[in-house]
Amino acid sequence: MQTSLVLINSLSQLTGCKIYGKAEFENPGGSIKDRAAKQIIEDAEFEAKLKPGGTIVEGTAGNTGIGLAVYGKPKGYKVVICMANNQAQEKVEILKTLGAEVLLYKPCPFSDLNHFYHQARKYSEENPNAFWANQFENLSNFKAHYTTTGPEIWNQTNGDIDFFVASVGTGGTMGGVSNFLKEKNSKIKTIVADPFGSGIYEYIKNGNFKTEGSSITEGIGIMRLTENFKKANVDSVIRVSDQQMIDMMYHLLKHDNLKLGTSAALNLFAVYEIAKMSENKGKTFVTMLCDHGSRYESKVYDPRWLAEKNLIPKLIH
Ligand code: PMP
Repeated sequence: MQTSLVLINSLSQLTGCKIYGKAEFENPGGSIKDRAAKQIIEDAEFEAKLKPGGTIVEGTAGNTGIGLAVYGKPKGYKVVICMANNQAQEKVEILKTLGAEVLLYKPCPFSDLNHFYHQARKYSEENPNAFWANQFENLSNFKAHYTTTGPEIWNQTNGDIDFFVASVGTGGTMGGVSNFLKEKNSKIKTIVADPFGSGIYEYIKNGNFKTEGSSITEGIGIMRLTENFKKANVDSVIRVSDQQMIDMMYHLLKHDNLKLGTSAALNLFAVYEIAKMSENKGKTFVTMLCDHGSRYESKVYDPRWLAEKNLIPKLIH
């Protein structure tokens, strides 16, 4: 299904650019990850890695799990989702409503075998009927964005696009879209928006996965080169703080009737920073509105939670 491309009026007016967001919250499971989930299931069925009555298992920040449940449960598969226990409770509730089994783990570094990623792999090794979706390394993820997101953006802008900006979780979105768009027009600039706590910023600048700080954003930022990100054709990177992300999130709520998730707000702050540069006046930007704010009601939309984190929304400038 095609999602809408919406003009972000307030940011377009403030910058003199055309700033568009792709409304990925319109997908059946409510996020950008539906695209990868659908493709992963279809390819696994085609390759007979996923057999009738089988189990789909995945380690996820939640959205890929929701996508796998949305597309997998009606086909009769069991869906087992491994997650860190610090992700928004709303995603856990949605997964349970969809009939997925949710296994929660204490947050820990990727190198620790208790990390939800390794636990999902372990589950698939111990259960012969289980298929590990492995969104980070599985190139069906790249393919989903190369064959759907990229062409949709190209058609919806009639090829009039100067910048594509997106954050990176697995790299599927940036991998697929950057390749598609640059094949159409090599002049299109592709830029990663990266939170603190992610190694992509340093990797793109200096070739090493190093980081500082941390972030309350969910589903984005990585500390290793995944197969999906390896394929990305990226020009540059910009780092966005949690404070800037929150400022943008509340700006959009007030001025554009948009209640967005954390990665979408981070993406739009990055776009805003680039669009403000005098040399970019009049340019056309597209970014991803990866999921909806209703998924984070108990966190970034709860003033008490924000105050505890010392994140008071400020006017963007
Ligand atoms: N935003 C959200 C809310 C996500 O859940 C994800 C995926 N984990 C992303 C952005 C990043 O997308 P990708 O995995 O395609 O890099």
